[in-house]
Amino acid sequence: MKVLVVGGGGREHALAWKIAQSPRVKQVFVAPGNAGTARDATNVPIEVTDKAGLIKFAQDEAIAMVVVGPEIPLVDGLVDDMEAVGIRVFGPSKAAAELEGSKVFCKNLLHTANIPTATYHTFRSAEQASRYIWERYCDPNDPVPVVVKADGLAAGKGVIVCGTRAEALDAIDRIAGQREFGDAGKELIIEERLTGQEASVLAITDGETIVTLPAAQDHKPAYDGDTGPNTGGMGAYCPTPIIDEEMMARIEADVLVPVVHAMKRARRPFKGVLYAGLMLTPGGPKVLEFNVRFGDPECQPLLMRLKTDLVDVLEATIDGRLSEIEQLEWDERPSICVVMASEGYPSSYEKGREIKGLDAADAIEDVKVFHAGTKTIDGKVTNDGGRVLGVTAMGDTIAKAKLQAYRGVKEIRWQGAWCRKDISDKAR
Ligand code: ATP
Repeated sequence: MKVLVVGGGGREHALAWKIAQSPRVKQVFVAPGNAGTARDATNVPIEVTDKAGLIKFAQDEAIAMVVVGPEIPLVDGLVDDMEAVGIRVFGPSKAAAELEGSKVFCKNLLHTANIPTATYHTFRSAEQASRYIWERYCDPNDPVPVVVKADGLAAGKGVIVCGTRAEALDAIDRIAGQREFGDAGKELIIEERLTGQEASVLAITDGETIVTLPAAQDHKPAYDGDTGPNTGGMGAYCPTPIIDEEMMARIEADVLVPVVHAMKRARRPFKGVLYAGLMLTPGGPKVLEFNVRFGDPECQPLLMRLKTDLVDVLEATIDGRLSEIEQLEWDERPSICVVMASEGYPSSYEKGREIKGLDAADAIEDVKVFHAGTKTIDGKVTNDGGRVLGVTAMGDTIAKAKLQAYRGVKEIRWQGAWCRKDISDKAR
């Protein structure tokens, strides 16, 4: 069969790499892909937002299954439009993807279904929201432990964690006053600021059966020790010992099962990858957000450990027969992914710098370099985005996996390349 993966990041490279390992798959296409997917699959120059182009390609090539990686085409209804013309596609419908596309929808659903999350208020204007802050926190010396969130998608930047009244008012102004994130800021949320360790629990569901994947931990802040500005994610590892069996059972019972039921009741049955971003607070796990697709970079270490044929799982999800897949088989060994980024990221950065040492890194045992922002120019692989590579490795222990991943990192060079040095240290 032929498979089309939609997207061009590290997640999509990992998906294409894993899907290509299936004995049932003849060819994997990636649209638009990157320099890494060009090696493990065939790139197609179609952007993720070009619905008509993607549909035409899938029809012309008789693609047996499409897998949509990023949130933007999911929230935009690519799955619905493909299904409408008979294309088999993995991912949630537009209505179901609202769980990620609208934080107000998500919070209201969590509230109705009694799923643990931070207490919150929603607002439609900067004035309303600012008045709330002035009234709720009237003593100027009091801390203001809130998080201000734009309702819509803002590539991880529309969430501002605040500690003082000035910070909260500034966040409100940026989101709803100056509309820094455009229409994503038409509505906003002010929620209680939680404390604790963060973890990601992903599950695959066909709307009835839920198959939970091993818990992972992302590293969103740019620099070591979780300092600096937030990024798309600087690394991840799995499984994370901070979620033991008992905690996982609690998350399944208190979060995953009720949200799948609530989506069904809301007539938005959820099919695809359900990603719960959680804070493990002293009062138990609470939902920070839901994503409606594999996380990037969590996808890379997860798929490196997966032994089950991913194509079987994706197809069973599309067909609503996930209950037939008994359990997923995993490599016992932990895995970690270290993201290498361009100089200046997450602010502005230069593109087009030649990357060397990729083959040497890939040749190390149990190391796979997943590409994200890379592009081949005149036969040379160059950086083409903020997050450039995800050097992913397995080892008998998390410490050994870490050692192996950083051995891979050491082989790779380009001007200004950098990464965090402490990925997976929270597991200690
Ligand atoms: P993503 O890029 O993952 O989609 P997002 O824009 O959906 O990000 P969230 O994941 O909701 O944003 O929040 C980003 C980060 O902000 C979280 O990882 C967490 O560190 C912090 N955060 C969000 N909500 C809270 C909260 N209620 N209390 C404390 N920290 C929070």
